[in-house]
Amino acid sequence: MARRDRLRPRRQPQGRRRRHDAPRPARAHARRVLPDRQRVRPPLRPRRAPPEAPARPRDRHAPRPDEPRHGDRRDRRRLAPRHHHRAGDQRRLGPHGRPLPAADERRSPVTDLLIKGADLIGKGRKDLLVRDGRVAEIGSITAKGAETVDADGLVLLPGLVDLHTHLREPGREDAETVHSGTRAAAKGGYTAVCAMANSHPVADTAGVVEQVAALGKAAGYADVQPIGAVSVGLEGRQLAEIGAMAQSAANVRMFSDDGHCVWDPILMRRALEYVKTFGGLIAQHAEEPRLTEGAQMNEGAVSAELGLPGWPSVAEEAIIARDVLLAEYTGARVHFCHVSTARSVDIIREAKARGANVTAEVCPHHLLLTDEAARTYDPVYKVNPPLRREADVAVLRGALAEGVIDAVATDHAPHAPQDKDCEWAAARPGMLGLETALSITVLALGGPSAVDWDVVAERTSRTPARIAGLEAHGRDPQPGTEANFTLVDPAATWTVVPADLASLSRNTPYAGMELPVTVQATFLRGRATVLNGKIAEETTE
Ligand SMILES: [Zn+2]
Repeated sequence: MARRDRLRPRRQPQGRRRRHDAPRPARAHARRVLPDRQRVRPPLRPRRAPPEAPARPRDRHAPRPDEPRHGDRRDRRRLAPRHHHRAGDQRRLGPHGRPLPAADERRSPVTDLLIKGADLIGKGRKDLLVRDGRVAEIGSITAKGAETVDADGLVLLPGLVDLHTHLREPGREDAETVHSGTRAAAKGGYTAVCAMANSHPVADTAGVVEQVAALGKAAGYADVQPIGAVSVGLEGRQLAEIGAMAQSAANVRMFSDDGHCVWDPILMRRALEYVKTFGGLIAQHAEEPRLTEGAQMNEGAVSAELGLPGWPSVAEEAIIARDVLLAEYTGARVHFCHVSTARSVDIIREAKARGANVTAEVCPHHLLLTDEAARTYDPVYKVNPPLRREADVAVLRGALAEGVIDAVATDHAPHAPQDKDCEWAAARPGMLGLETALSITVLALGGPSAVDWDVVAERTSRTPARIAGLEAHGRDPQPGTEANFTLVDPAATWTVVPADLASLSRNTPYAGMELPVTVQATFLRGRATVLNGKIAEETTE
């Protein structure tokens, strides 16, 4: 009996029962009629504040369809929709019932292309016949019916290759897109760019790197090779999907957390061991974060005078020294991004002499500008790593000429006006680079009359292509090679007008400067992306 009592729910005491009895159909009319209780529910939410006290303005928009429920607080925006506005069954159909071809197939079909009288480095003046995107013949050529480009007085360089480009898509399409960034690249003489991983979302999955590669292919101005993130979200805690990105259609070989240093030595070691298995490499943004907290410019006499917190050169050198040792210990490849100090050059020189598997790049701005520019307080000169001393610039130029520094890389970092046109401390670091890199490189290597074009080709094209593993790029024209090259006028000069740049952003530190060397034409697989110094627009169908 005791058990049954426990199993049965106790009857509730009379006072807690509902107030209404169930109606008894038979005797319903016999009951006294009383007014119904009020059935209008009280408001669930408190009343709105009176109009004189407006709601506090929100700091965020409501989430968009491509953002997770709580908006974009962690910059984990989903992939933006590809630009299809039609319903699914119509989407794949173009006007003629077939899919639209990619941009590079859509342009005017070039039958044969004849480049007359270009200065081929080491071979003198030659004609060059291009057929089906490849070099068909080199020599003294007459070809009827071929589209002819007069290259008299122009130097032919293998198409430039940038190891370090920020294309900002996905996520910051107000600053740059893959389309606009690769147009800027073509105008600067580039046929291939490596897109850094610090987009939004971060390129830390196969999906994002494939999306970036597809956008590059659709734009058709330069080959876009995505760089994968080393760590999830560039947060430096957990390795990203390195294997999945390597095996993806984007075929990622280079990984970098650029913008952030892979600071944690165990994460760096694991990443190196991982990429070594498939011949990949880690591109390191060398910056010991504890030494650069709050840093605004190079630490030195100028920062002391201006009262701005300094970014000491040792923050770069300490990480480069550590990673040289890790590269030697693991046998894996490390590439140092934007080397900016004289002592970094010493460390890399010693490492190479010992046979360490390391390479290094320098940015054009570190070959020309110094921290004296900060005296203007113009945030266009704010960059990471910062502009250094005159003595560093001299050593970097020497190291580039000598080959201790392997390549010029732009660190093209477009920023929207609101991120640059503000006070120095609030401005984002970074400068445009793609359209001016060749001119600055030539200046740094002695100027157009003294420069060795073979060294220019080596540092801006052949070596970066080799580092990135882009086999179709960085090759001097030979019968059979892909026709990826650029024609430059060594005798011409041009003035940098920000409004004329192909980039969506305007943050160039060279505005108004007269620079040597113009890019007259760029060819990607035999198709002109730039002709007569102007972007060759798509032919309308
Ligand atoms: Zn960087």
